[in-house]
Amino acid sequence: MILKLFDTYTRETREFVPINAGEVGLYCCGPTVYNYAHIGNLRTYIFEDVLRRVLEFNGYKVNHVVNITDVGHLVSDGDDGEDKMAAGAARTGKTAWEIAEIYTDAFLEDLELLNIKTPSILCKATDHIAEQIEAIRQIDAKGMCYVCSDGVYFDTSQDPAYGYLARLDVEGLQQGARVDKGEKRNATDFALWKFSPADEKRQMEWDSPWGKGFPGWHIECSAMAAKYLGPLFDIHCGGKDHIPVHHSNEIAQAHACYGTNLSNYWMHGYFLQTDKQKMSKSAGEFLRTATLIEKNYDPIAYRFLCLLAHYRSDIAFSWEGLDSASTALNRLREAFHSWDSDGKISEAYIAKFTSYVNDDLNTSRVIALVWEIVKDASLSSADKRATVEVFDSVLGLGLSQWQPPADVEIPDEIVAFAQKRQDARQSKDWAAADEARDALAERGYQVVDTSDGFEIKKL
Ligand code: AMP
Ligand code: ZN
Repeated sequence: MILKLFDTYTRETREFVPINAGEVGLYCCGPTVYNYAHIGNLRTYIFEDVLRRVLEFNGYKVNHVVNITDVGHLVSDGDDGEDKMAAGAARTGKTAWEIAEIYTDAFLEDLELLNIKTPSILCKATDHIAEQIEAIRQIDAKGMCYVCSDGVYFDTSQDPAYGYLARLDVEGLQQGARVDKGEKRNATDFALWKFSPADEKRQMEWDSPWGKGFPGWHIECSAMAAKYLGPLFDIHCGGKDHIPVHHSNEIAQAHACYGTNLSNYWMHGYFLQTDKQKMSKSAGEFLRTATLIEKNYDPIAYRFLCLLAHYRSDIAFSWEGLDSASTALNRLREAFHSWDSDGKISEAYIAKFTSYVNDDLNTSRVIALVWEIVKDASLSSADKRATVEVFDSVLGLGLSQWQPPADVEIPDEIVAFAQKRQDARQSKDWAAADEARDALAERGYQVVDTSDGFEIKKL
């Protein structure tokens, strides 16, 4: 069955054809390690993990490269303002190098909590300064950059295809930005190398042919992707916020350095939103895996929640939504563990499953299919288990590793809180329901809704 993926570059769902038979080069933009990842960032990594698992299910060997941005990503996402790492260092009173290590470790822990497979290669920007300088040298040799007082800039007017990925109205942007583009020649020009301020010793700086400083964020990704996967590889991913700037700039750099589009397919995950806006590190509620655990949610319930939506639609986050995902996941885990072992795979269900995942990763249809299997009286319980186990190689819920919690005596006080939550939910008093749930969480219990009321679990 052919695998079809939506490619942002062509705006088409296209058959996936690898460059080298049997192998896939996959590059995913990784975290800027100046803070913890929020669950919005993690949604993007879950989408990329599902993509990798679908490719593996189709028999490909996936070379999965993820970068760690530990220098050069500026607060504005443009070319001004502080480096996010320097801001993170100032916020925490640690050095930029120390926070890079702390938040890289936290990122790896998040991947584990969410059953996200470890990338084949994890590469840090600060370990690849020479490669980035070499890439800028090649851009310079083509006359596609120029020097300003604060850095070296890519001249986007030299690339006739600049901005195609985002269908950018380059002329319109240019007209609108007459006043505030500073020394830049074009509004869309971006920094390849920033100079250290003359009066300041930066924690992270290197010598270069243009002067002491540090690389821009975009050159990091195209230089490392090309080093590990070659100048043209199969799939490049990130969140959809990367389409108009970061990925448009990576493509422009690859045009200049290698004469390629860098990747054959460009895929983008949509947002997790809170209060109708993108969850971000600077605005709104900052929810982490640790927040979920504090509130006694299993992080896998969040993974399940993400699988319920297509990766190309935004998810509006709510605790009620996570509660239902949690309840559904537990129901599935219990059903799975009640089934016998040593069954046969149902070819008919696997065919349907394959057609759904190969249709641009339609995980929500797969979840609906799982419930069909749960209810299917014509399939033996052992065959159900064997079949759903195959599905789980892509869903990544870890169903067979899950251990049912041991039976424990529940104190009266806890039952009273759970009852209070149930009553509050029935009268749609969500604030009171949340309060009762938090009270339970503080005492180490979680309440899960069931078809005939609720169940209390000790965590
Ligand atoms: P950052 O650590 O800020 O560089 O972001 C890491 C990844 O998370 C990028 O691929 C972003 O596009 C993605 N991202 C940022 N905010 C969200 C969000 N609210 N929902 C989904 N993905 C996001
Ligand atoms: Zn990137």
